[in-house]
Amino acid sequence: MRRRIQPPQTQNGAFPGRKRILILMSDTGGGHRASAEALQAVFQERYPEAIQVDIIDLWMHHTPWPLNQLPKSYRFVTDRTPRLWKWAWRLSEKETASELLFSTVTRWAANAIRRAFLHYAPDLVISVHPVMQHVPLTVLADMGWSLPFVTVVTDLTTANLNWFHPGVDRCFVASQEALERARRAGLAPSQLRLTGLPVRPAFARQARPKAELRRMLGLDPERRVVLLMSGGEGMGPVATIARRVAWELARRKIPGELVVICGRNQRLRERLSRQSWPIPVRVLGFVTDMPNWMGASDCVITKAGPGTIAEALICGLPILLSGYIPGQEEGNVPFVVTNGVGDYSEDPGEIARIVARWLGPDRERLAAMSQRARALAHPQATYEIVDEIAALVGVASQDAPEDASREG
Ligand code: UDP
Repeated sequence: MRRRIQPPQTQNGAFPGRKRILILMSDTGGGHRASAEALQAVFQERYPEAIQVDIIDLWMHHTPWPLNQLPKSYRFVTDRTPRLWKWAWRLSEKETASELLFSTVTRWAANAIRRAFLHYAPDLVISVHPVMQHVPLTVLADMGWSLPFVTVVTDLTTANLNWFHPGVDRCFVASQEALERARRAGLAPSQLRLTGLPVRPAFARQARPKAELRRMLGLDPERRVVLLMSGGEGMGPVATIARRVAWELARRKIPGELVVICGRNQRLRERLSRQSWPIPVRVLGFVTDMPNWMGASDCVITKAGPGTIAEALICGLPILLSGYIPGQEEGNVPFVVTNGVGDYSEDPGEIARIVARWLGPDRERLAAMSQRARALAHPQATYEIVDEIAALVGVASQDAPEDASREG
């Protein structure tokens, strides 16, 4: 393959002649970064010569102390004190509370955020985070900069109202429920698009049969594979669920194999790796080839993370939800259950029994859920979002190279 010769970058990292898009995100959970990287990958694939994309953690790297410490406390608060999180989440939806929050943050962080905009000098800004509409839009207005601002909502259903700012040029959402919330927050139909969640392009392309993927990953092609995960951070009672599922499958003599993805939870990984199991169990840390692991599995047990749900739907994986973060993930439970693509239980014993039924007597139901999952999925969402945003910076989609791997 011929290597593309990059034109020289200017001092602020810009490639002359290209439109520059700045994505604002923060590492609260794994989903915002995953969506930002998905968008960046598709811009790179579709418009390599016309558009350059930078991703910044605006909160961590461009606000002063102690604001920049807040993302670090997210995991602790959502995992250990969910009631406090639920209260804070609901409070943040109240207009007076959010106004107070955002005006305080703006006073504190405006200079640092202004410096970030001056450094990157973007032609368009994308926010993939609920607290990154109001403050950056205020800073841009104070700078006298008028440039397109786009929100890509990375929550699936119960998206916090702070995602929605009437001053944006476009707002992309993933479900009817999120669309209605956006309307309630004052966005007009011309600003709104219902596309689905942006997921990495590898999910849209993953077409290898299960058996081939299992061989490739060193899994037993004769066994049914249960994937167990819990977001980028591996939150919640993953270890207990793993034990209960493994023993239940062994007790019922169901030929199963369990894959546990611990994400960034190193302690969980070490703990599970030391255990002995009654069936084959693979314990993994943070994997970068999620489409392969999902494609090789028969079902997934997961907390109700929007990214994981959207990816599982594309892979046709029935979803057993084992919990949710109050607030933003709450609506994902009825979304999965009422659409007939999975079940919900927080009880590890019940989870194990449901999985055993799915892999045993309820195999037909499992197949039907898998079909419904594919029908509900939006594998092309990232491409649709990227093409529309490219048009906003004056880059037409015919400027993009044809990609034979994409379907219609
Ligand atoms: N993820 C991954 N590798 C891992 C664990 C998770 O790539 O080892 C990805 C997963 O595929 C999904 C994201 O991290 O895209 C998790 O997002 P989700 O919205 O499900 O949960 P969050 O971590 O944001 O709470």
